[in-house]
Amino acid sequence: MKYIGAHVSATGGVENAPLNAQKIGANAFALFTRNQRAWVSKPLSEKNIQEFKSNCKAYGFLPEYILPHDSYLINLGHPETEALEKSRTAFYDEMHRCEQLGLKLLNFHPGSYLKKISLEKCLDIVAKSINIALDKTTGVTAVIENTAGQGTNVGFEFWQLKHIIDQVEDKSRVGVCLDTCHTFTSGYDLNEQYDEVFEQFEKEVGFRYLKAIHLNDSKKELASRVDRHHSIGQGLIDPKFFRRFMQDKRFDNMPIILETPNEELWKEEIMLLRSFENK
Ligand SMILES: [Zn+2]
Ligand SMILES: [Zn+2]
Repeated sequence: MKYIGAHVSATGGVENAPLNAQKIGANAFALFTRNQRAWVSKPLSEKNIQEFKSNCKAYGFLPEYILPHDSYLINLGHPETEALEKSRTAFYDEMHRCEQLGLKLLNFHPGSYLKKISLEKCLDIVAKSINIALDKTTGVTAVIENTAGQGTNVGFEFWQLKHIIDQVEDKSRVGVCLDTCHTFTSGYDLNEQYDEVFEQFEKEVGFRYLKAIHLNDSKKELASRVDRHHSIGQGLIDPKFFRRFMQDKRFDNMPIILETPNEELWKEEIMLLRSFENK
């Protein structure tokens, strides 16, 4: 079964996210559990936590299909000690919030080397950061998102994701989220080479590590290394990709999250994707 939703607003409190997801006909959703553009956020209150859990229960959202996303400020591969520490502290807080909310996944962008260290060295630092966070928490899996490879972002080729995973001590709590826009613009041809791309993913990372999908169309061309999402069917990824994806059992039973730019369309996009499932 496919679990589809969008990255919904948690304005006014995390407990509002399941309500927003329910309105668009979702059975999965993503959210920020804190202000994604600030280093420090108010702790979750007991009321936030209880209402989040009861709203999820009321609308049938299971923790397995909820994909919190960390703050954009965090760089777990930062080349400088002080900034790295700041990122690791904030990431621990993100993980801890997931624990409090009874959530099982935390999605994050691996990091950036900032032209100060090599890409490989940056990946090594990311792995160490993950180990530190996993040591201090329980029950939450660190879900590394592939990137478009914009600027000095790392994690845009499958081997880079595996390079991180190989150094994570607890393999049961590390995984990957594939973003279809990032996959396409980083150079994997989802339009013409569907089978080849996912065979390569299986070989270089393994579907056993695939924990989530960000399902986005792309405003930018194949291999452009630019991260610009588009609504499903409006960008440069062929609708036939989305149809095949929806019929591909390898993507069952994980959160599939739209991060498409026009939230007015989310409900329609989910209906369109559902219509692809059986034909
Ligand atoms: Zn994404
Ligand atoms: Zn993106």
